[in-house]
Amino acid sequence: MTYDLIIIGAGPAGVAAAVYASRQKLNMLIVSKDIGGQVAKKAVDIENYPGFEKISGPELVDLYKKQLKANELEVTLDEVLEIQKPENTFLVKTKSGKTQEAISVIITSGATSRLINVPGEEQFSGKGVSYCSLCDGPVFKNKVVAVIGGGNNGFESALFLSNYVSKVYILEYGAKVNADSENQELVARQPNIEIITNAKVAKIEGKVFVESISYEDMSGVSPSVIPAQAGIQGDGENTGSQVKPGMTTGVEKKLEVKGVFVEIGYLPATSFVNGLVELNEKNEIIFDPKTLETKTPGLFSAGDCNVSKYKQIVMASGEGAKAALSAYEYIKKHK
Ligand SMILES: Cc1cc2nc3c(=O)[nH]c(=O)nc-3n(C[C@H](O)[C@H](O)[C@H](O)COP(=O)(O)OP(=O)(O)OC[C@H]3O[C@@H](n4cnc5c(N)ncnc54)[C@H](O)[C@@H]3O)c2cc1C
Repeated sequence: MTYDLIIIGAGPAGVAAAVYASRQKLNMLIVSKDIGGQVAKKAVDIENYPGFEKISGPELVDLYKKQLKANELEVTLDEVLEIQKPENTFLVKTKSGKTQEAISVIITSGATSRLINVPGEEQFSGKGVSYCSLCDGPVFKNKVVAVIGGGNNGFESALFLSNYVSKVYILEYGAKVNADSENQELVARQPNIEIITNAKVAKIEGKVFVESISYEDMSGVSPSVIPAQAGIQGDGENTGSQVKPGMTTGVEKKLEVKGVFVEIGYLPATSFVNGLVELNEKNEIIFDPKTLETKTPGLFSAGDCNVSKYKQIVMASGEGAKAALSAYEYIKKHK
């Protein structure tokens, strides 16, 4: 059977694409590893999605499920391993061993935040550890927080947070920050932001919520024992190797903080695209902003897997809707 459309992913972008495609009466298959994507993992309430003053991640996912059901849409839980386009149609291969065929495909596979992998990170995730300052920043009003990552992500996050919190520490693993000069100038003008370089984050501690972050001060350590490109603790734009445990021996220091914002970049879920789309240096999909089409005609992409400065539910949903309408135009011409 050849579907009109296959949607890969069922986060905000995938759900929006599915709802819009169903209203165009497209015969579609939705394949996803889960329903809700990053929203399902959100521990703190969402307060910036229009129409909802406050809604929890699981509540929004329940509403997604209800809306899919109301539109007679089902999600096939499976993982896409590869997309091919041998001739005019697309073949989508999944982990369960199936190959599905469609005239058009929309990729909405999203992204995951890069982790720092230190003790306390997982335990306090949603209890002071956050991967999204735009989403969770206002919760930390008048508190002291730390931002991990001295690249543009970290600096922009610290600038946003400085409007709410009493103090922001930016912790950067390297001897120098990587943010561009404009962001550095803006941060320099903020009296409540302090940059700490040579800071190798060691652990996050607290009782129920975060109370402190400890780091090794590497400033006195000879550069010869610090591995080059220790990017995992640096800027999101770096993709260097991880610091090997025990390789460095700086002096341990502790900061009393209520929040820790990890801003070391994203890992877009685009490993299955098989050369059919153009990727940037961060493996995000490059697309036509008018139609959301990729370099392959009939293959569209939407949401956090795409090149975008801001990764938010409202934007992913908007792109999903736009991609579905563009896919409909394509399918009409090629059916
Ligand atoms: C902790 C946290 C808090 C956040 N808080 C907010 C907030 O308050 N407000 C806000 O606007 N935004 C928030 N965000 C960001 C928001 O969640 C994302 O921008 C949004 O979820 C992106 O939607 P998406 O559909 O593009 O991708 P995702 O939500 O990442 O969904 C991707 C989907 O694709 C599926 N998938 C991935 N790979 C495959 C594959 N190979 N095969 C099949 N399926 C696959 C996944 O299972 C998932 O269903 C937050 C993010 C995080 C992590």
